[in-house]
Amino acid sequence: MKITEIAIYAYDLPVNNGPYRMSHGEVFSLDTTLVRITTDTGLVGWGEACPVGPVYEQHHAAGDRAALAGMAQGLLGQDPTNLVRLHRRMNGLLNGHLYAKAAIDIAAHDLTGKHYGVRVADLLGGVETERVPSYYAVAVDEPDVVAERAAEKAAEGYPRLQVKVGGRPVELDIETIRKVWERVKDRGISLSADANRGLTVRDALRLSRECPDVPFILEQPCNTLDEVLALRNRVNHAIYLDEITTDLTKAVGALAKGQCDGFGMKVTRIGGLHPMAVVRDVCEAYSTPHTTDDSWGGDIIAAACAHLGATVRPGLNEGVWVAAPYIEGHYDTRGGISVEGGHIRLPEGPGLGLEIDESIFGAPVAVFG
Ligand SMILES: [Mg+2]
Repeated sequence: MKITEIAIYAYDLPVNNGPYRMSHGEVFSLDTTLVRITTDTGLVGWGEACPVGPVYEQHHAAGDRAALAGMAQGLLGQDPTNLVRLHRRMNGLLNGHLYAKAAIDIAAHDLTGKHYGVRVADLLGGVETERVPSYYAVAVDEPDVVAERAAEKAAEGYPRLQVKVGGRPVELDIETIRKVWERVKDRGISLSADANRGLTVRDALRLSRECPDVPFILEQPCNTLDEVLALRNRVNHAIYLDEITTDLTKAVGALAKGQCDGFGMKVTRIGGLHPMAVVRDVCEAYSTPHTTDDSWGGDIIAAACAHLGATVRPGLNEGVWVAAPYIEGHYDTRGGISVEGGHIRLPEGPGLGLEIDESIFGAPVAVFG
């Protein structure tokens, strides 16, 4: 099978009842990039990459499109089922920009699954569960509002909740965490306090020390690894890394050096499903829990995350966050990916298991081939 055409689309995903607030700001709609790869067999695969705004991580929506346009011509004629070689080819065409390579990687997995008549989860090693655990992220808001929302989501069946903290006086975050725990502690919920890089070491220390009885995970508390390491042995809460694990070497290095207790891991940041499966396996070797998600995106990203999330060892699976509960509409005319009772039903059908209605994306911004 050979790639004969690569089409790039830009699409706006509005936030339902927005904005969505994190420590570094708020977003009302997200600029997502879709990739459609056509092959000489007639099979078509879809990929996607979507940063949650320009400052969440080192990922820029216009950068996605520029990087894809830069690589596209050099990918024509390549075999998308040879995933190792495809990554080497991309790395030979462009240094870095893993998020854009991830969109190609996801489309290639979709195509490979369709070619062999298997689901992407089967390609990635096999399914542990058809009902993939998800988690809900409660945006920064007044403590009582966050506690109420957390209680609602716990009642819906989410096994894990993430509460956004940072970007405001830490006293409000401390009050929020305490109020949330009061509402959900009897439900067997796993809790994460995610600062998205937004706390000082000083405030992260206070958050941990003033909530000693709340067993939350402190997720990406500070902006740099040095700050996180300054914090690491002075708190009793487990620390997960997220935004600063920008490639495989950083993730594997953090594990080997004992710099964290887990990851909030993003498929597009790490470069796609192929490297994300490596993260999964190395995490399993180190008995380290991790999420399998992305910063934002529609059905394509959600399906990619769900397929990988379905293969993670139970007990280490911290869930698959998808943007579906926060956005209107789907790319898949049959319904797409959604969260029910805090879990995602793994799609049926080969590849990602999606039937994309490309008419909703409008005309492509670029076509190669
Ligand atoms: Mg996070």
